[in-house]
Amino acid sequence: MRHIIIIGNGISGITAARNIRKKSSDNITVISSETEHFFSRTALMYIYMGHMKYEHTKPYEDWFWKKNRIELVFNHVESVDAQSKKLLLKHGKTLTYDILIIATGSKSNKFGWPGQDLKGVMGMYGKPDVDLLETYSANL
Ligand SMILES: Cc1cc2nc3c(=O)[nH]c(=O)nc-3n(C[C@H](O)[C@H](O)[C@H](O)COP(=O)(O)OP(=O)(O)OC[C@H]3O[C@@H](n4cnc5c(N)ncnc54)[C@H](O)[C@@H]3O)c2cc1C
Repeated sequence: MRHIIIIGNGISGITAARNIRKKSSDNITVISSETEHFFSRTALMYIYMGHMKYEHTKPYEDWFWKKNRIELVFNHVESVDAQSKKLLLKHGKTLTYDILIIATGSKSNKFGWPGQDLKGVMGMYGKPDVDLLETYSANL
């Protein structure tokens, strides 16, 4: 049985995991450092506006992953050693794979604009950004 590792638990990584599971009994591991579970990124602004809670943006119940034998690892991949098919995770943990899928999405960019590094100037891409935005705008 092969070990398929997917880096990234966004819509791309999770769609890959679900479709692989439908077709094979390979071991599947999904790694992400943003959140433990897949959530709808497009709903982030509704969390900030108070219309939804983070829990409401998770398309699958937490038991779904175990039931479908998709192992979730909440960690950051620091480097990939393609020769030995090994991943180095934060805090020194390593994982080996047979097949690697990189579904790491994107991140906010900066262009050297004046003030871009001031406190409170930030991108709005991930769950940590919403948490930070809540902090910055708490007294507004
Ligand atoms: C606020 C907002 C609203 C949006 N609204 C819409 C919309 O209405 N309609 C639409 O079509 N699109 C929308 N988009 C765009 C859409 O969300 C993205 O196109 C989509 O999320 C990309 O999915 P992905 O799986 O490729 O990557 P991502 O969702 O970015 O997932 C990649 C994951 O990989 C993780 N990762 C990256 N590197 C590592 C690493 N080294 N180790 C561990 N984990 C790692 C990241 O933390 C992330 O969780 C919106 C985006 C944002 C930010």
